[in-house]
Amino acid sequence: MRYVYCPKCGEKLTLRPIGDEGDVPYCEKCGRPWFDTFSTCVLSVPVNEQGEVLLIRQSYGDTSKFVGVAGYMKPNETAESAAKREIAEETGLDAFRVEFLESLFYEGRDQLMLGFEASVKKNRIKLSSEVSAGEWFDIDTAINIVRQGSIIQKLILDIKEKRNENS
Ligand SMILES: [Zn+2]
Repeated sequence: MRYVYCPKCGEKLTLRPIGDEGDVPYCEKCGRPWFDTFSTCVLSVPVNEQGEVLLIRQSYGDTSKFVGVAGYMKPNETAESAAKREIAEETGLDAFRVEFLESLFYEGRDQLMLGFEASVKKNRIKLSSEVSAGEWFDIDTAINIVRQGSIIQKLILDIKEKRNENS
């Protein structure tokens, strides 16, 4: 998001060159720049002890597509604890280990997605109201069932690549 008005005092911002950043929206009244902002989200791929991948379908938005477990980070939270919290909330599973894969920017939504592989036990899934279905897939099926070229597909491909390197 690019600021036009000062979020603190409501004054219309002007542009001012700041260091190497170029022109940045600036509040003359508060005497401070307002850099562009975006949301930071976590996106996890839960994997069980048999190497199967858990994908979910949301009960809102596009309900036909299998996706990963995602959510917004909260202030004062680490990305790892956010990933674990979202998995617990949406699937009832305990992610006992989360490992960072890569970060990807979701341009259409102005979101920085932090991608994780999450280790879980294959216990019964307790879905939240935000989730309509959760299913385990072998990794190749998972790669094919998600939207082609999506961020979740990229993360599952990362996991597959890691396995190939280790075997
Ligand atoms: Zn201001």
